[in-house]
Formats: sequence, structure tokens, C-alpha cells
Amino acid sequence: MKSRGALVVVLLLAIATGAFFFLKKDKPASTPGQRLPFTKLPTGLAAQFSGDKAYAHVKALCEIGPRPPASPGYETALAYVEKDLASNGWTTQRQSFTAATPKGPITFTNLLARHASGAIDWTKSVSTVISGHFDTKEIGAFKFLGANDSGSSTGVILELGRVLASDAAAASSVELVLFDGEEALLPNITFTDGLYGSKSFAHLISRRATWPALAVVLDIVGDQKYPFFYSETTPAISAAADAAAKEHAMDLKVAPSPIIDDHVPLRDTGLPCFHIIGAFMDQPYWHKAGDTLENISAEALEKTGRTTLSTLSAQLP
Ligand SMILES: [Zn+2]
Repeated sequence: MKSRGALVVVLLLAIATGAFFFLKKDKPASTPGQRLPFTKLPTGLAAQFSGDKAYAHVKALCEIGPRPPASPGYETALAYVEKDLASNGWTTQRQSFTAATPKGPITFTNLLARHASGAIDWTKSVSTVISGHFDTKEIGAFKFLGANDSGSSTGVILELGRVLASDAAAASSVELVLFDGEEALLPNITFTDGLYGSKSFAHLISRRATWPALAVVLDIVGDQKYPFFYSETTPAISAAADAAAKEHAMDLKVAPSPIIDDHVPLRDTGLPCFHIIGAFMDQPYWHKAGDTLENISAEALEKTGRTTLSTLSAQLP
């Protein structure tokens, strides 16, 4: 039985993330295509992941400044990411769409990246989606840099792109996705505000001829002064994640309550997910001016990247 303290934490977590607004599920209407078998990654990739290289990306993103949807900062950051992915042989595609928001219609842009020797068929999926959000929260009162939320996950995904590119077969089994519009325009994520990019991507893959086997979603993964949580796993993913976290000395445990993030629209299509997030509700700087580079450690980014790669080297999902 949960202690009263634990119950309070659970309730605060639900409130902070807007969980109560998401009890109703948002299922795409179309029928999923054929589900692809899972492609394991080689075990040797994890050791190649460099926390220092991921950190350099987070630093570069912070130097660009705030990156809210449809802003000059977002466009500059997109160009930075596209250039880096291209340098490692990834082909990128912008997925733009306009959605109604509490602040009127906004055009959002997700970025999708694939790695193949020949032409890429975007109407078909590959085994594994590795994703995270790319936008920073629009907070008018100050300049919100979002080093941890969302620079950290973007830095990890770019470094994963470099590592995966060292193995053509591994890289071709992965689709890297950066979501726009994870953040709500109003203070909290609700049923109608936030998760814009992941909802759109969930609809996109539901219209493809083939369906991924698994989606990884990373968020707020740059600060190891706080624990990390994972959720939405299958027993096989949990076992692999526990073993991988132990191997890389990552303080990763099962989330104490449902967390609303970009994995929710993906999960609600029936796609198995592996969501990793830092304990943001404990971080005094979460969605505040203090979310700057000083909180980010290369070690936290490295543990996240390596734990992700080791988890994906097991037989999943
Ligand atoms: Zn956020």
C-alpha cells in the first residue's frame, strides 16, 4: 500500500503533468499497417556514445536561445539539427502541420530522420522510433533556454544519430524523430493543449503501410542530481531497461504514477513505448528561468544514451 507521502507525490505528479485531463484516450481512426518485427541493435554501440559530444549539442542549442514553435529560434535550431544529422548520413524530412491552439492556429514542424543507402520510402516505417521533443516552452516573462527541457533529449538523440551511423544495418532500423509542440501554450498540458507534434506523428504512422515495433521517448534527461523514471514498458522492455541501467550506473526506476508526455499519443495507437524522463517535479528550475546549462552534465547524457542503446540491444518488445 502506498504511504500518504507517496500518495501526495503521485497526486502532485499527476497535477504537474496534467494527467487528469488525459484519462480519455486520443486514438487515431485509421487501422495500423503491418507491424514490423523488432530489430535488435548491436551490443557494442553503447560504449561509443559520448556524453561530451551530446553536451556540446545542448550547449549549442542554449546558445541559439528560446526555441518555441514557429519562432526564429526554432528555425535556427532546426537548421542546426538538420546539418548535424546530414553530416552523419541521415536524410531528414520536415513534417509540418497547422493545429488549433488556445493562442490560435500555429504551424508546427516535426523533424524525421532516416538512414539508408538507397531511396527512403517514408510511407513505410522501420523497426524503432527514437524520439523526443524539440520545442522549448514559451514563457513570456523571461528568456527560457530549456537546457534540460528540451535541449538534453535533443543532444542525446543527435549523439545517438552519430553512434548509429557507424553501423549501417543498425541505423537503417531506426527513425529519429524530434517533436514540435510538446509544451502546452497554456501553463499545463491538457486534452486539447500540448503534445501537438507527437499526436500528429501518431496519425502519420497510423497511415503508413508498416508499423514500428517500438518507440523510445526521451525527455529532461540531462541532470543526474535527480532520479530518472521509465514507464509504458512491456515486461521484456522493463527487464532490459533494468539490466541496462545497472550496467551504466543510471538511477532509473519505474515512474511512481502516470506521466503525460509525447509517449501518450504513440502508446494510444497500440505502439509499445519506452519513455525515460528525469524527475522534473523535483527540479526547482523546471519551466523556470533556471533551466540552463549549469544543470546539465555530460555524464547524465551519457548514461541516458548508453542505457537506451543497451536496452535496444535486447530482444524486445
Ligand atoms: Zn516542459
